[in-house]
Order: sequence, then structure tokens, then C-alpha cells
Amino acid sequence: MKEGLVMKSAGVPGREDMEAINMYTRRAYGPEEVYMFSLVLCDNEIDRDFERFSVESLERLRELFLGKTCIFDHERKSANQTARIYHTELEQAKGEITQAGEGLVRLTARAYLPRTQGNKETIELIESGILKEVSVSCSVKCGVCGICGKESCEHKKGGTYGGRLAHTVLTEPTDAYECSFVAVPAQRGAGVVKSAKVEKLLSGEYGGEVTLSKAQVTEIGERFKSLSEKAGWGERYRTELERGVLKYSAIVQPDMPRAVMESAVKGLSIEELSAMEKTYSGMAQKILPLKPQLMPAACGRKESNNRDFKI
Ligand SMILES: [Zn+2]
Repeated sequence: MKEGLVMKSAGVPGREDMEAINMYTRRAYGPEEVYMFSLVLCDNEIDRDFERFSVESLERLRELFLGKTCIFDHERKSANQTARIYHTELEQAKGEITQAGEGLVRLTARAYLPRTQGNKETIELIESGILKEVSVSCSVKCGVCGICGKESCEHKKGGTYGGRLAHTVLTEPTDAYECSFVAVPAQRGAGVVKSAKVEKLLSGEYGGEVTLSKAQVTEIGERFKSLSEKAGWGERYRTELERGVLKYSAIVQPDMPRAVMESAVKGLSIEELSAMEKTYSGMAQKILPLKPQLMPAACGRKESNNRDFKI
């Protein structure tokens, strides 16, 4: 897996966290001044591209990702909108075996960002689970066959040979660049306490007059506040998807007038837009390497010839 996710957003950082964090700051920060969260960066499972990292690669990436930044790609407004990875480790997942028959190993990280006014929204988006998925970018020197260990062979990726899935093992990482957050649609529970009466009321089941307690009124108010916030996030997500479709469309079907595409995307649902963006980006990727690509340079090539790629 070359994509990861936020595991948990922990509360107040401990002493060890603060010591590690303050290695990266210009002045000593107090625990109340920083927000920290844990995330999985990647693991050694075979992914949908039939590629995986070896455990040795993960170990190297563990060193390389230390001190690197997490970027909130959706709004690259200011330099403040990045979190820094201050701790990385490999975790053996108990009892979980990869498709390649190895024990599952995850590269996990802890990152922090200062609790500033400008970061407030980003922190809320992480807390609420809206910002959850990350993709990491790095470069590796080699890709070898997971079955025979050779660089080039007759084993076709995705094929099965004697019950074993052919895939590429990515070895010798040379650099890690960053991890970036990928926005996902706002669908999660808002963490607001729900009472049966309010539920019933909102579903329109009450015909006549209803008496509400002060707490219930407050609850309804909170629910509305939370919903309108989420609607805002949904709106932004939609705009992002539309932008993506238009961008890729210009590559995939350059003759299509932009105005036509613009009005076409307006009529699509979020699900349709999302599917379209995925399809188009895949098609565009074949034409131009827009999206993170994982194409290891041939082994043995000179370092300077290594191609950077994103995963
Ligand atoms: Zn092979």
C-alpha cells in the first residue's frame, strides 16, 4: 500500500513528543501549542497496482520520512498549512499476513502542527475525519519481480503463478518528499449527541405542537451548525472535483469546448463527479504523468538518472 490514513488524532502531546517536536521548531513550544496526530504512511501489502514495498524499503523510508512535511493539498494557502512528521516507526500488525505471505508491517508516523488561528480549520477537518487519507511521495531505485526476484522476467503483474500473485517489489528508496492529504467527502457523524425526540422531530414525524427542553433546543442548534459546516466542506469538495474533471478533460479530449464541459459537470451528482474525475485522471495519466506515478527507474542506473515519482 502506498496510500495511508490518519489513525487517530491524539490530545495533548507527552514529554517525549514535545522533545521530538522541539527539535524542529525555532523556539521551544509547549504541549498546548501544538496539535498532533498519528498516521499510517504505507505498508508492505500488495496494492491495486500490484506493487509493494519490501520491509527493508519501509525501514529506509522510516528514516527518510522523519522531518518531512504533510501537505494539505486542497488549500495550499500558506506555509503554515503543513504538518511536520517528527516520529516514525515500523509496526508489525499482529496476525495479519500480506498477499505475498509476509507478516503485515506498517510504517506509521506522528506529525504535529502549531495550534494557530490559521490552522484551526485544518485541525477540525482532521478531527472530524474529513482529512483522513494521505498519499506519500518518494523515489525508489529498483523494482524487482516478487516471484523470481529479477528485474525483468516473464511473470506478468497481476497474474497468478503456482498460486502466487505476480507483483513488483519496490526496493532501495532513495528519497522521501512529503505526504499529502486527500480530501474525502463529508459524510461522517458530527459527534453531536442525538436524542430520540430531536431525531423524530427532524424526520417530520411530529404532527402537532411539540414542547422542547432547553437542552433539545441547543441540540437542534448544534445540529444545524454542524450540518451547515459540513455543507461548506461538501461544497469545497465538489468544486475540487469539478476542477479536476475540467483539468483532465482538457488533456483527454482537447477538442471538447471548456464551456460544454463546465455545464456538463454542473448537472452531475458528487458520486458521478467523483467517478468521472477518477476515470479522466486515469486516462490523462496515460497521456501526461500528472498524478503520482510509480515507475521505478531501472536498477543499476546512475543515481542522477533516477526518476522521481509519487506514490
Ligand atoms: Zn519474475
